[in-house]
Amino acid sequence: MATLTAPDIRTAKRLVIKIGSALLVDRIHGLRLNWLQALALDVAEAKARGTDVVIVSSGSIALGRTVLGLPHAELPLEQSQAAAAVGQIRLARAYEEVLAPHGITTGQVLVTLEDTEDRRRYLNCRATLETLLSLGVVPIVNENDTVATDEIRFGDNDRLAAQIAVTVGADQLILLSDVDGFYSANPKEDASATRFDVVERITPAIEAMAGDPISGLSKGGMKTKLLAAKTAVAGGCAMAVMEGSAMRPLQALAQGAARTWFVSQADPQLARKRWINAMKPRGELRVDAGAVLALQAGKSLLPAGVSAVVGSFGRGDPVAIVGPAGEALGKGLVRYTAIEARAIAGHRSGEIEAILGYGGRAALIHRDDMVI
Ligand code: GLU
Repeated sequence: MATLTAPDIRTAKRLVIKIGSALLVDRIHGLRLNWLQALALDVAEAKARGTDVVIVSSGSIALGRTVLGLPHAELPLEQSQAAAAVGQIRLARAYEEVLAPHGITTGQVLVTLEDTEDRRRYLNCRATLETLLSLGVVPIVNENDTVATDEIRFGDNDRLAAQIAVTVGADQLILLSDVDGFYSANPKEDASATRFDVVERITPAIEAMAGDPISGLSKGGMKTKLLAAKTAVAGGCAMAVMEGSAMRPLQALAQGAARTWFVSQADPQLARKRWINAMKPRGELRVDAGAVLALQAGKSLLPAGVSAVVGSFGRGDPVAIVGPAGEALGKGLVRYTAIEARAIAGHRSGEIEAILGYGGRAALIHRDDMVI
């Protein structure tokens, strides 16, 4: 197999940056504003190159506990949720304040594990992020810690960031952390530990090197970083882990700073299509000859081209797309329920609101959610 080289952050089309609590929040002084202002320069530079940027930021709990004067030990769930409520509002404002001078608009997106596991909510979350990016906004994402209880939470933003990267079809994910990469053993305990520059494949031997999560201000240890890397690379996204405390970490990365890249052999779009293709359809949409041509030309499936709806399915479910003679054309995630789809089939998208009594998306299946 040919050796895969490390990606160049300057060529990223869509970049997700994960920022750990320890980088942003100082136990004594609170928010590290100088560092954040420098990061804003990095983000502005990436945006100026035409890269879409999503920031997944930790720090709400760390910031909130500093404001509230809570101890820096493990907090009971209710207290960490209260700290998150106080900290998140300040965190979001801080991003807004450092990015606005660069003409960059920010938006806050708070998600829970369920938003990525439930297909309908996943599609919703994805559509929102996509819309924000198309409007040039930098979404600032965190887990919705004030409502997420232990059973339903990610708990660490490394895996959340990987999930977000795959959701938005990012090609690069950078974890800014307090370690400068992935080591063959814990460098604090083993002097012979060496850092990987590039990991081409996450083998059982690599997994065995990760050890257990370390506790402290941030949640994620090497184990969660490796889990994040697995999610990212399976979804076609390369992931870097690097130490982020120096000013302008992304500039440093471009200039060859120490880091570990987990490279992906998959293409984000292809990985997504494979994911859709593997699903068992819950129903069927039969389309007319005109729609067949439109689909083959890469267009979304509009209600106007649908002649029959078979089965009972909910929003976000996978359905088969079949041609006029019943021939299989492909599969997609449908944006309406079977009942709604029956009502709007054969009608123009402009009529949807009058038929259903509420407006909805113009396409029954968006082209990004379809395999033909
Ligand atoms: N969502 C948590 C926070 O913002 C952080 C989780 C983590 O450290 O990974 O405080």
